[in-house]
Amino acid sequence: MGSWLEGKDLAEKIKQDVKEEVTRQQQTRHQVPGLIGILVGDNRSSQIYLRSKEKACQAVGIASQILTYPGDLEAAALKAAIEELNRRDDVDGILVQLPIPAHLNAHDIICAVSPAKDVDGIHPFNLGNLLANQDGPKPCTPLGIIELLKFNRVPLEGRDAVVIGRSLIVGKPVAAMLTNENATVSVCHSKTKNLADVARRADILVAAIGRPAFVRPEFVKPGATVIDVGINRVSDRGLVRELFGDDPKRAEDLDKKGYTVVGDVDPRAFERAALMTPVPGGVGLLTVAMLMKNTLEAFKRRRGLA
Ligand code: NDP
Repeated sequence: MGSWLEGKDLAEKIKQDVKEEVTRQQQTRHQVPGLIGILVGDNRSSQIYLRSKEKACQAVGIASQILTYPGDLEAAALKAAIEELNRRDDVDGILVQLPIPAHLNAHDIICAVSPAKDVDGIHPFNLGNLLANQDGPKPCTPLGIIELLKFNRVPLEGRDAVVIGRSLIVGKPVAAMLTNENATVSVCHSKTKNLADVARRADILVAAIGRPAFVRPEFVKPGATVIDVGINRVSDRGLVRELFGDDPKRAEDLDKKGYTVVGDVDPRAFERAALMTPVPGGVGLLTVAMLMKNTLEAFKRRRGLA
């Protein structure tokens, strides 16, 4: 049995560092970084994510605002709103909360954000810089994963890493970052054959799939480091009992909220792993901390301070 790789200590440290620097900027330049979150439609999870990001901004002194638009907003109107934000000097970061309604082309909308203000690091210009191993904003969740691995001194160079999931926001960028750290990386997806066999090669296994407890214990090489990115709401009591036994916290979740949050990795894989991130309490905490860091860095870069 291994240890839990918690995100809390590192997330707190990052937010504390950001807070100190924001305070310094406020005292010396009388300016603080500004972040705008854009919400299109009424996706409940997106509202919760954006609110938690806004709360984090308040805690570190970043000025933030959520702009909410109706779900039937036309692409031209959304792009015009983004262009207006691109021009505003007090806005350093623009975050379009994904997913956006299907009639909008997410790629087109992301391309409308100025790369200098793309604090999610998913504009093609910034993803290109990531592939070229150059400085620039990097996607928050993958950045959090790499920082967490480094903070805990998990060796990356020469290690076999397997990433399950190839989304633009998690799977592909984390694979690029692990490659930049000299790991040997395989990327798996829904068409991968013999997934369990490929996963079992991993010294570092990253699961970003969006399916609760998809990665079974037998996918995990004994002694591997397992990074569970998944956030899935599970309300099936039978499944929760199977995964967590009589864990009173999970029973309380089900009673109070009607669901509990489960990762993409079966929690019983912990028995085989050397290190494994918990869900909740792992990668998710770092995603928000990295957004704060990316926003501060965008502020500094835009003013030639970085
Ligand atoms: P996407 O739905 O965009 O991507 C899921 C990926 O998983 C796809 O590449 C898909 O393959 C792959 N996949 C789906 N089913 C299978 C399967 N049966 N076998 C192998 N691969 C499969 O999800 P995201 O990357 O956006 O998110 C993944 C998870 O991470 C979600 O639970 C999400 O909530 C969570 N998340 C957590 C964050 C955090 O801060 N902790 C931040 C962002 C996401 P294919 O490409 O072939 O369809």
